[in-house]
Amino acid sequence: MTVCDICSAPGIGTVISAENMRQAVFKNGFNPLSLGLVRDPMARMNKTEWYEGWKNTIVAQDTSDWNICSNCMAKLKAYLMGTPKPTGVKKATVSANPIASALAGAAVKEKYAEERMEGASKLNRLTGYLLATGGLLMLGVGLMSFAGYMIAALDPTLVGNSQGIGVETTVICILPIPIIGIVLLRSGISRLRN
Ligand SMILES: [Zn+2]
Repeated sequence: MTVCDICSAPGIGTVISAENMRQAVFKNGFNPLSLGLVRDPMARMNKTEWYEGWKNTIVAQDTSDWNICSNCMAKLKAYLMGTPKPTGVKKATVSANPIASALAGAAVKEKYAEERMEGASKLNRLTGYLLATGGLLMLGVGLMSFAGYMIAALDPTLVGNSQGIGVETTVICILPIPIIGIVLLRSGISRLRN
């Protein structure tokens, strides 16, 4: 008889891959026990122990699809990433040996920690590019504006300074633009170097 792989309710529900489940548990912290989905009284008595064991055995090691009933799916949904898909793997062996389980759990934990770091460094690079590009643009436009206003302020007859902008106003209002540009450019480059 097919039962739900979380609460053992009979019937076929949503079938998801073992990797979908690993992400939900190791990445997003899905805990069926604290969500009240596990009925086993032994599990309820040793909550932390049960959860660690469950994570390290079937969640970390299983390669076969999980059958999830609608009740469990309602809670699990929030922890799944993207659209869950079955892979068609029906049977897999899982070791209950404590050392093998602990190693499997640690390996999965490490894998997801690395993925998180990769994601963070991608975001850091993107921010670096944006800052550097924006900074360079501000530096270029700022310097050109500064030069233009300065020429006009120093020699009104040459360019024509109808607005009557003086040297002091030019320094106060225009010079900060390329300076901010340099600051942004520097912070962008330092992010890209990391
Ligand atoms: Zn269920």
